[in-house]
Amino acid sequence: MLQQDVTHKECPCGSQKPFDYCCKPIIEGQKPAPTAEALMRSRYTAFALGAIDYLVDTTAPEKRGKDDAELLADQVKYTNWVGLTILSTEQGQPSDQTGSVEFEAHFETEDQRGVLHEKSNFRKDEGFWVYVDGDVEVRT
Ligand SMILES: [Zn+2]
Repeated sequence: MLQQDVTHKECPCGSQKPFDYCCKPIIEGQKPAPTAEALMRSRYTAFALGAIDYLVDTTAPEKRGKDDAELLADQVKYTNWVGLTILSTEQGQPSDQTGSVEFEAHFETEDQRGVLHEKSNFRKDEGFWVYVDGDVEVRT
């Protein structure tokens, strides 16, 4: 369940499309993310909206920790995600099995703002893109 009603608003992922036609059907499981970038955008949106289950479900099974849902819930509670910029993508197209997406995500917490720069690796598991891992750098 989403914590905020943003149905008719612009999607938080920065695509400038309405949420209804962008990340919402992916997060709600109505259609799989066609590309690694689409999955990455939907996960960013899930962070922005607090869709914890979706974040766990789209993490590669071997990378999930048993406290993930709790950790994510904390992170969502204390962090406001305020903007996403996709810097580059490699592979990750519908015909690929792996792909990577480099992006910057801007955030604010109660006492600081910053930028998370990450190059994320994705893999397709039985037709569904999942997040595997990434090189993360946070600047505040
Ligand atoms: Zn979106």
